[in-house]
Amino acid sequence: MAERRTIASLLSGSTMTGGGGEKLDYRPTAVMPDVKVVKIGGQSILDRGRSAVFPILDEIVAARKLGIQVVLLAGGGTRARHIYSIASELEVPTGVVATLGKYIPMQNARMLQMLLAKHGGIYMLPDDFEKLPLYLQMGCIPVMSGMPPFGYWEKREEGSRIPPHRTDAGVFLSAEFLGSKRAIFIKDEDGLYTDDPKKDPKATHIPRITAKELTARGLPDVVIERMVIEYLPRAQWCKELQIVNGLKPGQVLAALKGDDVGTIISV
Ligand code: ADP
Ligand code: MG
Repeated sequence: MAERRTIASLLSGSTMTGGGGEKLDYRPTAVMPDVKVVKIGGQSILDRGRSAVFPILDEIVAARKLGIQVVLLAGGGTRARHIYSIASELEVPTGVVATLGKYIPMQNARMLQMLLAKHGGIYMLPDDFEKLPLYLQMGCIPVMSGMPPFGYWEKREEGSRIPPHRTDAGVFLSAEFLGSKRAIFIKDEDGLYTDDPKKDPKATHIPRITAKELTARGLPDVVIERMVIEYLPRAQWCKELQIVNGLKPGQVLAALKGDDVGTIISV
């Protein structure tokens, strides 16, 4: 009987919790390092409608025509906040709230896909990553929901029922999986400020900061989900977050071309 449990391998007989993994030669592959993983903000952009969305899509199409490979992920916004607040008040568990939270970004992604259809917009599910090479080689602009598919398996955060991994986290985790070195977030401010510029007019712009410095500064509010700042130092590939102002013409195209516009948060 013993032989059946002893297929020779570095981890055979280990619990995988006792440090056995250190023996493995870990050299992960950057799956598609040239792909730009880009979020279109829900509340900050999509909820503003056509005046905000159309010029951004024009710049994304222009980038695609230059050969820049873009994968677009949609945020949720006000409709997502609505379901979060109702579900929290009804005291449903975080896993249910996270499951509900996937529908609005999906609706937003479906609208973006249709708007981009004539330029190769194609809708994809998170499980469709293996089709990305085909889509991109055909000149498509893949569009998906930014919500990471934790759903019922989402973890609870102390004192809150709101899922801690929302669409900013989904964008970062997608970029990290694909091996892209920078995740791009299109929002409605020039990037990170010392506080929410909509509430504090004296807040000043921070063009570049490390995740460690940012955490140490203990800012009252930040422009991106805090979970992403927490994860960034552990990244293998996605070591930079770029936040750009999609309401300012030219910023999105500049970011897609690799310019350091907006704010760069780095490891
Ligand atoms: P999204 O649409 O991608 O979900 P959010 O609305 O969640 O974006 O977050 C972007 C908003 O964060 C900005 O519109 C801004 O008002 C706010 N914000 C809060 N704190 C900051 C900060 N320190 N710097 C810049 N913006 C901030
Ligand atoms: Mg948000």
